[in-house]
Amino acid sequence: MNWVQGRDPEQREFHQAVLGVLATIGPVLEHHPEYRRLAVLERIMEPERVILFRVPWMDDKGQVQVNRGYRVQMNSALGPYKGGLRFHPSVNLGIMKFLAFEQVFKNALTPLVLGGAKGGADFDPKGRSDGEVMRFCQAFMAELSRHIGPDTDIPAGDIGVGGREIGYLFGMYKKIANEFTGVLTGKGLAWGGSLIRPEAAGYGMVYFAGEMLATRGQTLEGKRCLISGAGNVALFAAEKALELGGRVLTLSDSTGVIYDEQGLDLDKLAFIKDLKNFRRGRLTEYGERYPGAIYIPCDPLAADGDQHLVWSFPADCAFPCATQNEINGHDAARLLAGGVGLVCEGANMPCLPEAVELFLAQNILYGPGKAANAGGVAVSGMEMAQNAMRLSWSRVEVDARLRQIMKFIHQSCLDTAAEYGVSGNYVAGANIAGFVKVARAMLEQGLV
Ligand code: NDP
Repeated sequence: MNWVQGRDPEQREFHQAVLGVLATIGPVLEHHPEYRRLAVLERIMEPERVILFRVPWMDDKGQVQVNRGYRVQMNSALGPYKGGLRFHPSVNLGIMKFLAFEQVFKNALTPLVLGGAKGGADFDPKGRSDGEVMRFCQAFMAELSRHIGPDTDIPAGDIGVGGREIGYLFGMYKKIANEFTGVLTGKGLAWGGSLIRPEAAGYGMVYFAGEMLATRGQTLEGKRCLISGAGNVALFAAEKALELGGRVLTLSDSTGVIYDEQGLDLDKLAFIKDLKNFRRGRLTEYGERYPGAIYIPCDPLAADGDQHLVWSFPADCAFPCATQNEINGHDAARLLAGGVGLVCEGANMPCLPEAVELFLAQNILYGPGKAANAGGVAVSGMEMAQNAMRLSWSRVEVDARLRQIMKFIHQSCLDTAAEYGVSGNYVAGANIAGFVKVARAMLEQGLV
């Protein structure tokens, strides 16, 4: 840790992600002294390549804007780089590196052969016209296209990058490269996208939660669920939770929280999907449309713990699906006091270390994002396979494969945890299983 912190002192999120892994893989290093001797840790913590570039584009007023673009190609021991693109004003190199680092382990947990990467820009699509978003995406891809390819690096979506952005990015790549290949995943259905890709991270996370509950003889039926976020992962997590009989009580965005004591239903969810995906509005409108629900304007991620309102309601399950570090120790204590027995992460690293410690100490079911939200990348892998074969699988087939993969990841976390003497600890299970697979491949491929 000293080495990592000393090299890049300002990259807090990256340090947090690294520490999360280092804290759990001690037993592996004891069994494999060669990993230390051959500096596997140092190599795994250093990106293979970091690309940082200028993105100049013109807004609707004719003014030139300049953003910063990133692609962190972290590790390709298991396959071509794969990981999403995030467009959000908070994006910086530390956040890109933490996400790329997590992605390496996440991809390793799936049965697919994929390396790990992440990218994005400090561009905020919120409040921008479609034309502005298109011009930004084109400028971004003008540079990124030199570094990616269907057998090299295959980006996808993340915060601020959904179907619209992937479309503009793909169009520009196709024009520059003069080829129609599966270089991005999350594409439109008519031009190479996979059924269930938009749903995959949210559905997969709920499947993972279902597997965890089953280990204690429980199901989601009748369980009160708190979900944060109102984006791709959150809305499809809500949809699947409802389908499995859960009672979804909350959603949130960056300006407020809704609490609906009666619970969401599919009609209410359809209203929010339209609001968020097409009208690009705020959750305020939910409070106006459904007066039985409470809308609380706030900054859900303000430093003051009392502002993390979404975690203040009594519930059985919590699904953080917005962004990193949205549950601190105070929130964790409130969740436990409110009756929560399962926390399953749709977002990447949404829990601060003190929250994770509390959940593990209380022996509740706690599913870390790198295992629980791997459904997104799993179906991306299926999209790549379909593109390579130039055919499309049915919704039922992709969903069945997704379910199978989440079951597989869950079991491999459990088995690995048991093998290393920490039964039921999904954090250790996921980290060790991912680490061993990548480390082995790195050693077999020599010093590259
Ligand atoms: P979206 O952009 O679709 O949705 C993100 C949601 O979280 C929005 O409601 C947004 O509010 C809210 N949010 C984002 N950043 C902040 C912030 N800094 N403060 C408060 N609220 C915030 O993103 P996704 O649903 O795709 O991603 C959500 C999480 O899931 C991320 O951690 C991502 O890395 C992870 N993930 C995504 C996968 C995917 O396939 N998309 C796969 C696996 C993990 P607002 O609308 O107001 O901005």
